[in-house]
Amino acid sequence: MAATTATAAPVTSSAPAIRLPAVHLILSDAGCQPLIEQYGRTQTTDTARALLADLRARLLAARAEGGAASNEATHAAAGAAIDTGTGTATDIPALLAMLAERLQRSNRSNLRAVFNLTGTVLHTNLGRALLPDSAVQAVAEALRWPMNLEWDIDTGTRGDRDNLVEELLLELTGAEAATIVNNNAAAVLLMLNTLALGREVIVSRGELVEIGGAFRIPDVMTRAGAVLREVGSTNRTHLKDYAEAAGPQTALMMKVHCSNYEITGFTKSVELPELAPLAKSHQIDVAVDLGSGTLVDLEQYGLPHETTVRETIAAGADLVTFSGDKLLGGPQCGIIVGRKDLIVQIKKNPLKRALRVGKLTLAALEPVLALYRAPDLLPERLTTLKLLTRPAAAMRAQAAAIAAPLQAALGASYAVTAEAMTSQIGSGALPVDQLPSFGLVIRANGKASNALGRLEQRLRALPLPVIGRVAHDALWLDLRCLNDEQQEKFVAQLALLEQAGA
Ligand SMILES: *Cc1c(COP(=O)(O)O)cnc(C)c1O
Repeated sequence: MAATTATAAPVTSSAPAIRLPAVHLILSDAGCQPLIEQYGRTQTTDTARALLADLRARLLAARAEGGAASNEATHAAAGAAIDTGTGTATDIPALLAMLAERLQRSNRSNLRAVFNLTGTVLHTNLGRALLPDSAVQAVAEALRWPMNLEWDIDTGTRGDRDNLVEELLLELTGAEAATIVNNNAAAVLLMLNTLALGREVIVSRGELVEIGGAFRIPDVMTRAGAVLREVGSTNRTHLKDYAEAAGPQTALMMKVHCSNYEITGFTKSVELPELAPLAKSHQIDVAVDLGSGTLVDLEQYGLPHETTVRETIAAGADLVTFSGDKLLGGPQCGIIVGRKDLIVQIKKNPLKRALRVGKLTLAALEPVLALYRAPDLLPERLTTLKLLTRPAAAMRAQAAAIAAPLQAALGASYAVTAEAMTSQIGSGALPVDQLPSFGLVIRANGKASNALGRLEQRLRALPLPVIGRVAHDALWLDLRCLNDEQQEKFVAQLALLEQAGA
């Protein structure tokens, strides 16, 4: 141990020795006690040792470069703990401050809260739907308590975890049965593997979707062991294309929601009410990957219409798959609803065991589904819908309140203006529809190179990183997803932005 804490040998005979205090002197200092209590003795000791080793290495490197520049570099590298004249560090309080910072940084969680000012409400990279308090509380309880996850309380016998939400799902969709898996990609995989293993699935060439994050219908089809039978062309598919492809080798006809693109111009696609009777006449089942899958008609809230799960079942789909954390506004999961005999088969597939959800997901999903029983109250209660239906005037008022303090924090190098902009629903729902919003636009004054890039980086470096969107030589901060509590925190940390910029 002594070797790691001993004074380093001078590099040249004329240079003074680099003196750093021994680890035990730091650890035995009264100021170190709170750190040992918080982080434990082992971690504090190891981190102190690593800190001293780094400081020593930097001092030696700086000295090897020599001259005044080295003094400056040394000072910058080691901070106030180092006497750059003598190369010694005896200031234990300064070293303790560095140690505390290092411990805090390495103990900070990697998954962190951020401000989503991108204007995309359901942002896949930022975790999609935010959940209502009822779901938050249910998850907290499920974390602390044993739960009747697979236990039928009435009979005292083993139960089925899907039963916890199945009844609600049937009520909300009109389907006969339901099952829940990890996400919609898993739902599609499980459905295809169960019903089309080694057989053909007919899909229009206009619907061979790729969703961000490497979910591609043709690839999932292959991995599920099904054979993709493409019909039609990219822009036009007719009913007769499906009819001609149908045969004894066909397991399913499948429709996939074109979540993130729209084909316009000379187009034709076969909608479900037309396709379902054809499939029935061939005794072929129809599956629909609805993607976002909303449970209510969004038009009643002034949003664009998105086909609901109920409409899809009513139009003749035998199975429908959709995500729990897109428009539905719940936790990440994939929901499969449809004909009872098909769901029974799906649940018997051994892959179901590998793709099933845990108790936290079900704890969050049930209260979210329950909110749909009161559709008139949904915009107040369901966080996703609340954000999607926020009036632009609310964001305008926020922009007015934040513009001045943000301008003050950024100083004269940037110009902050409050402007109208458009938000997106995101996550493949209604890709081309845009919601009128309001926010702040930051432009760089002068011609400093990469001023916006540096600003973005400063905003990301804040304790609560701020994530906006760069476009047209400006940084756009859409305030749709900033609630009152978050607004306070946003303004409170502007002082740190100021310091970081100074
Ligand atoms: C989003 C989406 C998926 C993937 O859903 P995850 O829940 O992200 O796995 C699959 N298909 C469609 C059409 C989608 O929009």
